[in-house]
Amino acid sequence: MNGIKKVFGSKAASAVVAVILIAGLLMCAFFVSRHVCHDCIGEDCEICQCIMLCRENLTSLADITTACSSIAAFALILITLCATFDASSFADDTLISCKVRLNN
Ligand SMILES: [Zn+2]
Repeated sequence: MNGIKKVFGSKAASAVVAVILIAGLLMCAFFVSRHVCHDCIGEDCEICQCIMLCRENLTSLADITTACSSIAAFALILITLCATFDASSFADDTLISCKVRLNN
């Protein structure tokens, strides 16, 4: 029963983290698209600093997404290979099962 709670708890936590990441991604993209053409005052422009922070967030999230998708693809390939090459399929092909006569 305690294990079931842990599984559902971790799924809920993962869902919350995913929603927060997606919301952050969308808010950054919305802010950049909304303020890309603004009246810039120069070096100390707060909007330009926020746009730079949003770009850094978008870049880091894109890197994380790329890394996670690569790991998921690798795990999928491993699972497929493990399912395809079952160890029992190799054990079935013995000389005795193929009825090969061994003469001395
Ligand atoms: Zn500016």
